[in-house]
Amino acid sequence: MNKLLPTATAGSLPKPSWLAEPETLWSPWKLQGAALTEGKEDALRVALHDQVRAGIDIVSDGEQTRQHFVTTFIEHLDGVDFDKRETVRIRDRYDASVPTVTGPVSRPRPVFVEDAKFLRAQTDRPIKWALPGPMTMIDTLYDAHYKSREKLAWEFAAILNQEARDLEAAGVNIIQFDEPAFNVFFDEVNDWGIAALERAAEGLACETAVHICYGYGIKANTDWKKTLGAEWRQYEQVFPKLQTSSIDMVSLECQHSHVPIDLIELLRGKKVMVGAIDVATQIIESPEEVAEVLRQALRFVDADKLYPCTNCGMAPLPRHVARGKLAALSAGAEIVRRELAA
Ligand SMILES: [Zn+2]
Repeated sequence: MNKLLPTATAGSLPKPSWLAEPETLWSPWKLQGAALTEGKEDALRVALHDQVRAGIDIVSDGEQTRQHFVTTFIEHLDGVDFDKRETVRIRDRYDASVPTVTGPVSRPRPVFVEDAKFLRAQTDRPIKWALPGPMTMIDTLYDAHYKSREKLAWEFAAILNQEARDLEAAGVNIIQFDEPAFNVFFDEVNDWGIAALERAAEGLACETAVHICYGYGIKANTDWKKTLGAEWRQYEQVFPKLQTSSIDMVSLECQHSHVPIDLIELLRGKKVMVGAIDVATQIIESPEEVAEVLRQALRFVDADKLYPCTNCGMAPLPRHVARGKLAALSAGAEIVRRELAA
């Protein structure tokens, strides 16, 4: 992009109440069949409209067509039995009943490509599309087939690469892999997690990104954050290897987080999507609060590589709050753009 400090979101936006129960993760759809398909498209259009009206430069589908950022992708794959459930510990944080991998995993057909084409047809702005990363996918499943986290991650990486290539062909400009699990399993990340991520992004001509965060503002996450101490140094474990990886951009959280901002220096040379909007509070940031985070980040990221962004997805927030936060992000970025131009 030619514009300095182009804004983007981490991905998800709240869904309209006529499509799904608001402010709820894994919220069931309120429509069925053809009405659901049409409802998802309408919601996607509204999500796009809200982003454009707020002045967001790199737009997304707001994840309006998926119930959950990981589960919905996996639902479309063969080899995973959603009726056969086991309780596992997700991201070492909370127990959840999850589906079972019962055989070889594969992608019988594209998952999000029609949605991406639909979004592409609605806008000329650059599009960013989020997919779950391989490590985060394996962390939400019980594996009764491969019996190896690494093996399953490599299988998912190959599947994600098929999907990513199709999304690129549909006109997506940035493909982002969501890897909150990178903030937890440091040894695995460095042993094979980043390599599997590179496999997922292999051969893509469009830009590639990885989003690593401290999660939505749900209780399991806020409780976990209380155990992390005064300084959150998790990024320190994974940034050095990411810096030398083939991934172009890293999306991270900075607003109200306890992440020492100088850790961004470890990514020097990469494009950085700096989270300047806290998704764990309904209080809307002032443009000046956004600007201050960006100014701090500019000490460690070259201006032409800084992308003002949200800390994480905004799916669980009320819609008016999310809209307010989008506007604040945009206005805060504009303050800093003017300062840089002066
Ligand atoms: Zn996130």
